[in-house]
Amino acid sequence: MREQIPLTEASRADDAEIDRNNDDSTHEIADDLAYKRLAIVNVVLLGHPGAGDREWVLIDAGLPGFAGAIKSAATERFGKNSRPAAILMTHGHFDHAGSLENLADDWDVPIYAHLLEQPYLDGRSAYPPPDPSVGGGLMAMTSPLFPAGPFDVGRRLRLLPEDHSVPHMNGWRWIHTPGHTPGHVSFWREDDRSLIVGDAFVTTRQESVYAAILQKPEMHGPPMYYTPDWDSARESVRALATLEPELVVSGHGRALKGPEMRRALHTLARDFDEVARPKHGRYSSEPAHADAGGTTYVPPKK
Ligand SMILES: [Zn+2]
Ligand SMILES: [Zn+2]
Repeated sequence: MREQIPLTEASRADDAEIDRNNDDSTHEIADDLAYKRLAIVNVVLLGHPGAGDREWVLIDAGLPGFAGAIKSAATERFGKNSRPAAILMTHGHFDHAGSLENLADDWDVPIYAHLLEQPYLDGRSAYPPPDPSVGGGLMAMTSPLFPAGPFDVGRRLRLLPEDHSVPHMNGWRWIHTPGHTPGHVSFWREDDRSLIVGDAFVTTRQESVYAAILQKPEMHGPPMYYTPDWDSARESVRALATLEPELVVSGHGRALKGPEMRRALHTLARDFDEVARPKHGRYSSEPAHADAGGTTYVPPKK
């Protein structure tokens, strides 16, 4: 079994020099697109530098305890006291929604998520349990410290529009990319072929503490530990690969660009069951089920 699809540094969309000097810096990867790594997870800041109050959006909200760091990054990029117009969620896992409630309260903003993701954000349901038998890396180490959820930001929660437009993100469309979670979405801008994928696939090996810290560029399936539907996850990666993106930002790992990234993404799509899907484990052959009310079935523990 091949376990990874490594990439060279040439595929990186961020600035290696900035990163060497200051691991906490925000990486600008397009005029109006930047991301910031907070411990193990990325948040995306979309809007032009100096955009001002309500003229930008935040995509995902990091681990619990990072609201201050996210607000400083926003102040630095968009100006003092500049609040976003909205927070958009790729999915509701604790490493993406951990600081969501604090931020949404401080900023008084709406939160947009897919219908099938809402039960995990409004307190109705919990995600299927993670599968520690497939290796959890940093996630397994950090998750006991945090509540398993569900979160409840229900009163601020809004649905992504059915026409696939994205509120406050002109030129972008949302794409349903289930598998890692039922209502997982990615964001796509045709104009410059930018793709924000959350955890539909990631660009570091989240199961390995070492790889996750080093952030070596690597095309990798969704984090194994937290993915309960591998057939859907594969179809989502295949759908994203057909877009032929120029730039990708994932929830974990560096932003990547160019033909080498595309080749790796197509390899991942083609060989997904071989390289991304665990050979054993609770969900490897049978998925968890969910509906608009949340988790409805979880396969027995192996
Ligand atoms: Zn996730
Ligand atoms: Zn994640």
